[in-house]
Amino acid sequence: MQDFRYLRGVSTLKLDPDACIGCGLCTMVCPHGVMALENNGNGGGKAKKARIMDLDGCMECGACANNCPTEAVRVTPGVGCASYIIQTWIKGKEAASCGGIKCC
Ligand code: SF4
Ligand code: SF4
Repeated sequence: MQDFRYLRGVSTLKLDPDACIGCGLCTMVCPHGVMALENNGNGGGKAKKARIMDLDGCMECGACANNCPTEAVRVTPGVGCASYIIQTWIKGKEAASCGGIKCC
């Protein structure tokens, strides 16, 4: 969903490629297509790894982290500017704060 954007570079989403087993669950549950599986070049049973393709499309919903069996992907739901924007949409007016991270 490339037309759904948040502020640049503020998502708390992190990926540890070494911990990723390439199961693909994060790619299946992400509502915005942020994650994708790519060949890692090593072949064998671990031929694929997740990769963050669109960090600014991440709404910090937490679905990827909640479904990752190895905790390779992490995100802190409900903080940051994405949360601020969502609160603003829901409330129809500017939210009081973004949740406290030092991004803006
Ligand atoms: S937190 Fe949600 S939007 Fe962000 S990558 Fe994970 S599943 Fe996708
Ligand atoms: S859910 Fe976790 S282990 Fe599975 S592909 Fe995504 S990051 Fe890798």
